[in-house]
Amino acid sequence: MTTLLSLPHSPREFGFYLDGAFHGGRPLFERASPAHGVPVSRIPKCTVADLEAAVVAARRAFEDRRWAGLSGAARGAVLLRAADILRRRRDEIAYWEVLENGKPISQARGEIDHCIACFEVGAGAARLLHGDSFNNLGDSLFGMVLREPVGVVGLITPWNFPFLILCERVPFILASGCTMVVKPSEVTSATTLLLAEVLAEAGLPNGVYNVITGSGRSIGQALTEHPDVDMLSFTGSTAVGRSCVHAAADSNFKKLGLELGGKNPIIVFADSDLEDAADGAAFGISFNTGQCCVSSSRLIVERSVAAEFEALVAAKMARIRVGDPLDAATQVGAITTAAQNDTILGYIARGTAEGAQLLAGGQAVDLGRGQYIAPTLFAGVTPDMAIAREEIFGPVLCSLRFDTVEEAIALANDTVYGLAASVWTKNIDKALTVTRRVRAGRFWVNTIMAGGPEIPLGGFRQSGWGREAGMSGVEEYTQTKSVHVELGKRAHWVTG
Ligand code: NAD
Repeated sequence: MTTLLSLPHSPREFGFYLDGAFHGGRPLFERASPAHGVPVSRIPKCTVADLEAAVVAARRAFEDRRWAGLSGAARGAVLLRAADILRRRRDEIAYWEVLENGKPISQARGEIDHCIACFEVGAGAARLLHGDSFNNLGDSLFGMVLREPVGVVGLITPWNFPFLILCERVPFILASGCTMVVKPSEVTSATTLLLAEVLAEAGLPNGVYNVITGSGRSIGQALTEHPDVDMLSFTGSTAVGRSCVHAAADSNFKKLGLELGGKNPIIVFADSDLEDAADGAAFGISFNTGQCCVSSSRLIVERSVAAEFEALVAAKMARIRVGDPLDAATQVGAITTAAQNDTILGYIARGTAEGAQLLAGGQAVDLGRGQYIAPTLFAGVTPDMAIAREEIFGPVLCSLRFDTVEEAIALANDTVYGLAASVWTKNIDKALTVTRRVRAGRFWVNTIMAGGPEIPLGGFRQSGWGREAGMSGVEEYTQTKSVHVELGKRAHWVTG
């Protein structure tokens, strides 16, 4: 028995959030549900002057120490209250994720549970954040390393996990004592604005969390260039990540955290549990319609079982329930934007043209409204093909074959990215050798996309800089100050 939620009768108009209050009066973007084609939200097109006002508010809230001056316990208490409020509003926030993003409601609810955990871990991190001391500098000198919040943080987020990516950062930024200005993706801004309500109710002081909505080219670019923003945390494409590096260099050398693209390998050995691995492969590329930075998009499978394994994955893919994301039984929902839909279908056409063989999917799914693509598997892929090299950001898995462990490792590392990887084998030597030699910031052995906010996440190579979540996630938003204390009388330099 499944339930199908209904669509809103009319689009909801949101205000932007500045210095503890919602504001209107700006022209509006209208966002249509990608699954249904009906307008669901209206989001302000803020001006660069609005951004300026938000940075001023965040700066004031940082400098007067209304947040940074609190104890870790007091900051943690606000984060724990926010977790409780999120628990209460879980279904409502999940519903808005579905409306703007197109992901299945059951998945969205699971993501909000993960977000609640992020706030709980952030609360603990606020209490545990500490520096270091050096008691080995001799009896007359004592050393301390203080951790201080970086200051005003700019946070730019993408449309694939609008609330989850936000919540893998915001509690940790808040735990550190920083204040922030957030620029969500223009197509999925609603839940970032709902978080402002949650944080205000939890007791976060005004000016600490500000949300300025608008396009990447205007508001996003201005935030990356802003001379009074001390750090920028950007999650999105590698191309825009590169422009953030240039903007930081040309403005104030702001500290950067970058979480970018990936072309993640899933390596399957003949001695693995092939049923388990096939389920992992189908899940790893179909979850969130493959619009996932850690989607396992390159299947690297041992030649002796490759045909059998590809057939298993194709059979699993054919059974995945693609459908209306408001239906609780749906496993794969809509593609979030029309542009992304075109990009994915373009890559599918290119894969066929390049000579790869389609074993599953390969076409749009017509549900009468909205945009959907069937989970797709290409076999016979070679490393030089565009579908093997470029991030598709859709439910398209490309299968490459290997004969030796060394060949598997070389294929896995044959990419400019290094975000995530997965290896499937019952042989501990192979599992650990591959884990140690493949360059990726997150690794799964005999599982995929598992984990929680206790463990840091981030990329190697062109997948980014820095780590989010866990204690690393809060330390990311701090800087260290080394303090030297003379004990007793200092030996004089001027003598005689
Ligand atoms: P995108 O880079 O186009 O946009 C991301 C954000 O940046 C949006 O808020 C957008 O408005 C803003 N933006 C766009 N142009 C900008 C500019 N010139 N200056 C400043 N901001 C600008 O990415 P997307 O299409 O929203 O998301 C898909 C990409 O994000 C994929 O490449 C995916 O791999 C990556 N991603 C990475 C992670 C990760 O954790 N590594 C997570 C999610 C998505």
